[in-house]
Amino acid sequence: MENQNFCLGLHAPAPDVLESLPGLVRLKTVSPKYIAQAEAAQTLARRFARDEILPRFLEIDAACAEDPTHFDWELWRQANRLKLNIAPIPEKMGGLGWSALANAFLVEELTSACMGCASNITFNTFGLLGAMVECQTDIILNIIHKMVHAQRQEKQLFWSWAITEPSAGTDVEDGEAMAAMQPSTEAKQVDGGYRINGTKCFITNGSLADYVIATIPADPGQPRESMATFFIPAESEGFSVARVERKCGQKASQTAELHFKDVFVPDENVWEPPGRGLRHTREILSITRGFIGIGGLGIARGALERGIYFAVNKKIGSRRLIDEKWVQMAFADMIKDINSVRCAGINFALALDACHAWKLFDLLPLKAGLKVTPERFLLSESLYSLARSGFIKKAGSRLKHRLVPDEVIENFVYYGSMVKVAGTDLAAAVAGRVADIVGIEGMDRQYGIEKSFRDAKVTQIYEGTNQANRIDIFKHAFPNEENLF
Ligand SMILES: Cc1cc2nc3c(=O)[nH]c(=O)nc-3n(C[C@H](O)[C@H](O)[C@H](O)COP(=O)(O)OP(=O)(O)OC[C@H]3O[C@@H](n4cnc5c(N)ncnc54)[C@H](O)[C@@H]3O)c2cc1C
Repeated sequence: MENQNFCLGLHAPAPDVLESLPGLVRLKTVSPKYIAQAEAAQTLARRFARDEILPRFLEIDAACAEDPTHFDWELWRQANRLKLNIAPIPEKMGGLGWSALANAFLVEELTSACMGCASNITFNTFGLLGAMVECQTDIILNIIHKMVHAQRQEKQLFWSWAITEPSAGTDVEDGEAMAAMQPSTEAKQVDGGYRINGTKCFITNGSLADYVIATIPADPGQPRESMATFFIPAESEGFSVARVERKCGQKASQTAELHFKDVFVPDENVWEPPGRGLRHTREILSITRGFIGIGGLGIARGALERGIYFAVNKKIGSRRLIDEKWVQMAFADMIKDINSVRCAGINFALALDACHAWKLFDLLPLKAGLKVTPERFLLSESLYSLARSGFIKKAGSRLKHRLVPDEVIENFVYYGSMVKVAGTDLAAAVAGRVADIVGIEGMDRQYGIEKSFRDAKVTQIYEGTNQANRIDIFKHAFPNEENLF
């Protein structure tokens, strides 16, 4: 697209945050720094997506189709230098200190260029989010320290979140379904910790992960009552990567099957004790589902941009395809739907900043503390030891339950599921409709439209299938289903 006078999406000047949701103009008068940060995030992300991802995404996709273990380290290093992979970590601790709103724009811009490349950069913060939602001070600090040190040394550091099993996908994300699931994993309590056996599958970054966060039942006969969350370094004896999957889409991001054979996890690496695993999974989903929806929005936007580019250049007789009224109406529909979902995504991000884990970094005492404490101390072992003290841990946990109680979590699963279904169904619908417009010629891989189509399909399946998300939405909207009719 470089040689054209094409000024849409990634090629349009940024920021256009306020044009996306004019209501934010009002918020800008109250919180100018908050909006300015989102605008700066959008500008940086758009430039990165246009200048670094767009010229390479097709080549990366082809290389990964050939060899699913291929990984584009150069692109990852460029993103790492800009700290895009540690964006939510407070600035004073070495990150960018980006709000959920700023992160939403980061996700939309990168995914509009390539969903796979974008996930390699942004999904890594899920490890941090997993710690943030629990507010266990030592775990949060440990993760922040690891991420910041790795970023500074340009060392790779990946987390993966392992929930899905060969015999249970949807089941592990839903209480009722989990009660009947047949787990393939088991965590047996032994002296000083647990021994873990079994298999997890379709785990994003599983093959690259330095640390795996896994939900595993202590009693496979009672999975819901005994599900626990474990923090497992990939170097643990008995842990192995069985294979990297060949997927139809999102190929740049690796998805792997993981084996655990008598892996020992010491008590200090039990993130959530038996019985709390499902709750923790729901806490993570309450954040991540919304971001996957915003990823779907990005894919839809990318497909639209690619479709318009094709239609501008395609001649039908003496006219351009874009001059056909039916084509303009189809694109108008897509623009309308994309804008509606973007408003829902921005609303979700604003709510995360106001009422969910991000609120933690915005607490006045914490903000003031970060301001006056030297960076050296914030990243020191001494602070980590302090954070491990029983008193501080208890205070952190109490704070979390006050800040983000269980009802809030379920509300966010509800909002997040709506954004997830809306965004990823939008991606599939837009990519499909663009494919109809451009026909077989436009589906040549050079235009990227068939890739948008493949990527869109995958997003409807993970982070809970869209069917499972719909069930969550209905259950939340009508908690007393039996009284409905
Ligand atoms: C690219 C990609 C990345 C992924 N990354 C991760 C990851 O990082 N970590 C991780 O843990 N997992 C990951 N997954 C796995 C993903 O979360 C699961 O594929 C998803 O949860 C669906 O599970 P499943 O494939 O086992 O399908 P199943 O659960 O077997 O579902 C099959 C069908 O049955 C329906 N169904 C299932 N149960 C119910 C029910 N109770 N009621 C009604 N309908 C039901 C489903 O909606 C679906 O239509 C990833 C998958 C992909 C494709």
